Amino acid sequence: MSNALFTVPKAINEPVKAYAPGSPEHTALISEYKKMLNQDPVDVPMYIGSELVRTNKKKTMSPPHDHQKVLGYSNSGDASHVSKAIDEAMKAREQWANLPWEQRAAIFLKAADLLAGPFRSKLNAATMLAQSKNVMQAEIDSACELIDFFRFNVQYMTQIYKDQPESLPGMWNRLEYRPLEGFIFAVTPFNFTSIAANLCAAPAMMGNVVVWKPAESQIYSARVIMELFRAAGVPDGVINMVTVSGAVAGEVIFKSKHLAGLHFTGSTGVFRNLWKEIGNNIEHYRTYPRIVGETGGKDFVMVHKSANAAEVATALSRGAFEFQGQKCSAASRSYIPSNLWNEVKEILVNQVKSFKMGSPEDTTNFINAVIDEKAFDKIAEYIDYAKGQSDAEIIIGGSYDKSKGYFIEPTVIVTTNPKFRTLSEEIFGPVLTIYVYPEDQYEEALKLVDETSEYALTGSIMANDRYAIQIATKALENAAGNFYINDKPTGAVVGQQPFGGARGSGTNDKAGAAMNLLRWVSARTIKETFVPPTDYKYPFLG
Ligand code: NAD
Repeated sequence: MSNALFTVPKAINEPVKAYAPGSPEHTALISEYKKMLNQDPVDVPMYIGSELVRTNKKKTMSPPHDHQKVLGYSNSGDASHVSKAIDEAMKAREQWANLPWEQRAAIFLKAADLLAGPFRSKLNAATMLAQSKNVMQAEIDSACELIDFFRFNVQYMTQIYKDQPESLPGMWNRLEYRPLEGFIFAVTPFNFTSIAANLCAAPAMMGNVVVWKPAESQIYSARVIMELFRAAGVPDGVINMVTVSGAVAGEVIFKSKHLAGLHFTGSTGVFRNLWKEIGNNIEHYRTYPRIVGETGGKDFVMVHKSANAAEVATALSRGAFEFQGQKCSAASRSYIPSNLWNEVKEILVNQVKSFKMGSPEDTTNFINAVIDEKAFDKIAEYIDYAKGQSDAEIIIGGSYDKSKGYFIEPTVIVTTNPKFRTLSEEIFGPVLTIYVYPEDQYEEALKLVDETSEYALTGSIMANDRYAIQIATKALENAAGNFYINDKPTGAVVGQQPFGGARGSGTNDKAGAAMNLLRWVSARTIKETFVPPTDYKYPFLG
């Protein structure tokens, strides 16, 4: 019987391990990577209720940097699997929703500790293999960010529960934070293992049940997430993973009267279509589904003439090219004043020239492969487009090769056209476009930054002049949900820089923050009167 007001351990950010060659973490991770690479192919099931479901429609999973190597197979499901997952979720709902909150908290705190310990190398290695991340990119994503999501969200959950209304004499007002009446559909992107897990875990922590559809190219590491959830004690049916196409899932999910929420991260176009589907079916639902979506970006680095050239070049080389530019927050356009351009260009070109590209197994590689052939072809098409335009020039990179893996050289385009296509469209690859503006037209350039793309996810201002920083902070108020001063626009940390964007970039519900968790509960106000009146007459009646 729960009869105490518990406090949870204070969340602190998981320290990022350094992975210097020869360090214990380096040895453990690379040996796990090799083991997973060379073991017999795995057959990843769907997780529906207590069942591990396999079909005879298998899809091959391969590392993006070595596409002929078979890591294993996923099992393609159909509409019946999606229906079964909804049924199992709804069956699990009552017991899970009624479990005291501290038991739910304990499960996710345990998941954090398992991931910090015995699961760390396994989830990092799976992420390196499935998504072609180098050790550092895997560590900050699948280990540290996910551990932080678990621990900080437990803390935010208790903050929400503690938030209670005032009570005047003679009454007691209370707020209950009920889970939503139905199930949550989690639809997740390929690029962050932590996001995939968190889109399921955040609503589940608040007492909801989930049907999860991971991105096809992330299924290999999604399997390890499900193993982690099970090891931590998430009961059967609370998080169900189905490996079906988006269209198949949507057909069943959006027609279910039990749909209570969509937790989405991915591209803007897909999110808009899902929102429309929900709108088209709105009269079928028992409750208005909560719609949370974090989507695309065209993230900027705006530079003032007072900035330091080496700092600008480094913000660009890290911000644009880490994880091959496949972060929603990656710097993909930059506006550089004419007085600094020659110096920035020289440092940037030298830094990019020194990048090594190849498999993540060789940890001297800074750059690995892009996710799949479709992404490779799309990025290559943008590079070819730039090659064919008279108002653009490629100053470094521009080559690509998919013979062994999907490798694209980090590419910098310089354009004289402030509305050039690659300054406004999301490419989602290692391509940075630079526009050099006359150094005395700072405010005009800020206007360009604000108006050139439909997105508003991340961006930074680099300047030493404090007035210039203030002018940019105001002028770009709505151009980014995460705004950086003298930093690259990537690398948000849970608990420190709550993450999300507005305009075409999403609903800005800030992953890993109380704001997000609030979307997964429906408050019930309870007013209790201690001594109810016994006569209807108010004093004014005389
Ligand atoms: P995507 O939109 O192609 O896919 C996202 C998910 O949607 C996948 O699971 C996919 O299978 C699913 N999907 C596609 N069509 C569907 C349909 N008709 N019905 C239901 N589900 C469907 O995105 P991606 O390539 O996996 O990820 C890259 C995108 O995600 C980029 O645009 C990036 O900016 C964005 N992203 C944003 C954030 C953020 O926090 N804002 C974070 C990570 C990624």
